[in-house]
Amino acid sequence: MKSDIEIAQNASIKPIHEIAEQLKLTTKDWEPYGHYKAKLSHTLLDQLFERPNGKVVLVTAITPTPAGEGKSTVTVGLGQALNQLDKQTIVALREPSLGPTMGLKGGAAGGGYSQVIPMEDINLHFTGDIHAITTANNALSAFIDNHIHQGNVLNIDPRRVGWKRVLDINDRALREVVVGLGGPAKGVPREDGFSITVASEIMAILCLANSLHDLKKRLSRIVFGYTYDQQPVTVRQLGMEGALTLLLKDAIKPNLVQTLENTPAIIHGGPFANIAHGCNSVMATNIAAKLGDYVVTEAGFGADLGAEKFLDIKTQAGGVEPDTVVIVATIRALKMHGGISKQALEQEDVVAVQNGMKNLQKHMETIRSFGIPFVIALNRFPKDTEAELQVVEKWCEEVDAPFALTEVHAFGGQGGIELAKKVIQTVEMDGKNFKRMYKKEDSIEEKIHAIATKVYGAEKVEYSSKAKKQIEQYGDLGWGQLPICMAKTQYSLSDDPSLIGRPKNFTINIREFSPSIGAGFLVALTGNVMTMPGLPKSPAALKMDVDDKGNALGLF
Ligand code: ADP
Repeated sequence: MKSDIEIAQNASIKPIHEIAEQLKLTTKDWEPYGHYKAKLSHTLLDQLFERPNGKVVLVTAITPTPAGEGKSTVTVGLGQALNQLDKQTIVALREPSLGPTMGLKGGAAGGGYSQVIPMEDINLHFTGDIHAITTANNALSAFIDNHIHQGNVLNIDPRRVGWKRVLDINDRALREVVVGLGGPAKGVPREDGFSITVASEIMAILCLANSLHDLKKRLSRIVFGYTYDQQPVTVRQLGMEGALTLLLKDAIKPNLVQTLENTPAIIHGGPFANIAHGCNSVMATNIAAKLGDYVVTEAGFGADLGAEKFLDIKTQAGGVEPDTVVIVATIRALKMHGGISKQALEQEDVVAVQNGMKNLQKHMETIRSFGIPFVIALNRFPKDTEAELQVVEKWCEEVDAPFALTEVHAFGGQGGIELAKKVIQTVEMDGKNFKRMYKKEDSIEEKIHAIATKVYGAEKVEYSSKAKKQIEQYGDLGWGQLPICMAKTQYSLSDDPSLIGRPKNFTINIREFSPSIGAGFLVALTGNVMTMPGLPKSPAALKMDVDDKGNALGLF
């Protein structure tokens, strides 16, 4: 089979104006970014306000292997399949971060015959949104340090500045740094650190804002640190919200591209789901819902992370509610949960698949407890055997779970027709009875308890003394009503990446909190999860190159 990039470079890509015309957009609704990309107007959502929403399909997965189980691929493939069935469908994805692209996993533009294109652009700098977010984030850092240097009228305690600098590359050497060294002319020394851009609060804000006005309001509310008498200090006090919004005025416009089969795709925002809220922007998904009969979107990692946050955080910020959920499973991940080592995942092992089903079962129960109907999509890989595939299909029959084998990687939309039909059937049965995992007025501990016990299957939650003190302080500051964004490993339902399958009798350990007041949630950091990943020994970037004509090579 051809590589992803060979398939993408041989695609019959349409000029972007044809895709915009397909969506009946006027030239005022969008602006071209080259021949094959466009930015949609930031006022488009307001203009479409009165239109009814199309059906929303959220794609999630079981607890993944480090290679990913094909959520983006299935999202794109399902979009193409629905279009083949004459449902006007729009795919809504996140923007890839250069961290995984250059690091361990590779890109995030789908794969095989289910990709969004131009994939080289989408996987690299795209329309510059992530760079703009990096710049806005670091501009705030520079202004905080300058304020302290210039006399510190706001009385900011340099030891309590929680705002970190960011970079969209995995760089473990920058996790903890000291800035301002070198004497009075170089500023005031303080401990700082770098997170990856996609973990930045500004990324979350961009994804949750529903207008330019809302973006500015949220930016102004950011609490970046505390004074010497431990009062929160905001961007508004620093007077920076105007400049930050200006830096983001183009980044807030959703990006329009297409799939290999010319299905419209809106790609916008890209927070990670383990250390951030893991969903593409509210504006992108809501615009897609207004423009299409169907929108197929995804949220990162397993249903314990991205889907939980989509349903508990994004819908609360005004994001459309899904009508159905697709849970992607793969034989390789099921075998891993059945106890097989990563090196042996390509050998047939029916018993391991059976033993791994408990992980899928947990994610299914989670979606059920949110009151949303679902379809299980078994994403077929070339090495899967009939006997292994049969295990999953039979199990789904036994527990009466809608099931479809999907081959969208190998065959594009054609390989997703069965899944698309099941999705349409499920949506038309209208069995949705959506409820969030917790209520706004629940206490911080009650919210975390609900997520830990009902979504992860934990027995209890323990808090460090720092976390306990923060809960008290946040209550006093009136932040207790905010939703919780859990930062947790993606490799286990627990906060310990080595506990595969469906762990039982475990404790979720809350190390500390980080308030994202602009985004509108409190981040609860569990276990050892870090906001700046490291590179593996042999990063994907080592295979990348560009030829003398300017063509990208080795992008998967
Ligand atoms: P996720 O969104 O769940 O992280 P992706 O869709 O990015 O996963 O897929 C991860 C990788 O696996 C990509 O390189 C993709 O091309 C590949 N992949 C996905 N599905 C298949 C499949 N059915 N057969 C072969 N490779 C696949």
